[in-house]
Amino acid sequence: MVSIEPHRFPGVFTITEDGRTLLATRSLVPGQSVYGERIVMTEEGHFRVWSLNRSKLAAAMQNGLNEMPIQPGSKVLYLGASSGTTVSHVSDIVGPQGVVYAVEFSPTIARGLIRLAASRSNIVPIIDDARHPARYAPIVSSQIDVTYQDIAQPDQARILHDNVSTFCSYGAWAMIAIKARSIDSTSDVNQIYSREISKLDGLGLEVIEKIDLEPFDRDHVFAVCRVREDIK
Ligand code: SAM
Repeated sequence: MVSIEPHRFPGVFTITEDGRTLLATRSLVPGQSVYGERIVMTEEGHFRVWSLNRSKLAAAMQNGLNEMPIQPGSKVLYLGASSGTTVSHVSDIVGPQGVVYAVEFSPTIARGLIRLAASRSNIVPIIDDARHPARYAPIVSSQIDVTYQDIAQPDQARILHDNVSTFCSYGAWAMIAIKARSIDSTSDVNQIYSREISKLDGLGLEVIEKIDLEPFDRDHVFAVCRVREDIK
């Protein structure tokens, strides 16, 4: 017996089956499996099971995320889109009234993203380096509500700041997956997280929540930030 219920985060669902609970989103494109994920078909729509091991956003929700600023209608700037695994679920959540500007700098990896965007009108693929927001500013036509970043770079705090300060206003949101070992290969991970969080704070991004992604992603924390008035 399978039952599907809305999650407390709008646009997200839970599937309960044989005593197990899975996360899912309602597919914008019925019948489409993007990365081999299972589709559960009901009269209410086709629900794509959201892999906790393939998506840090799903892992953060599973581990108790409290704030989920990505909602139906949100305008999202997604940095480090890869082939579109998490982007596809974000596209389901924001729906036809929202948009996902998905930035990926590797043209080879971006092939899957471009295919995905061809079937979903709310994804705008941008093949460029997230270190240069001014280069893609002409493509990002909306004011951004949420900047999401998963790029595993040593200067990821600065990259996030430069995008937020280009595309967002006071009160907007940022979500960042911090990969400790991309920043420092030897120090204690908790020290690395504290340093990164202070760095974000110093750049005008107030960290309001931080979630460890174990056991789904090793040495990663996921942080939710609010853009402060003093961001430069
Ligand atoms: N967020 C993806 C998901 O959940 O489906 C996985 C992202 S993967 C961990 C990181 C991606 O960021 C890689 O595809 C990499 O090519 C991309 N990347 C790294 N540095 C980047 C940069 N400076 N600009 C744009 N993309 C970058």
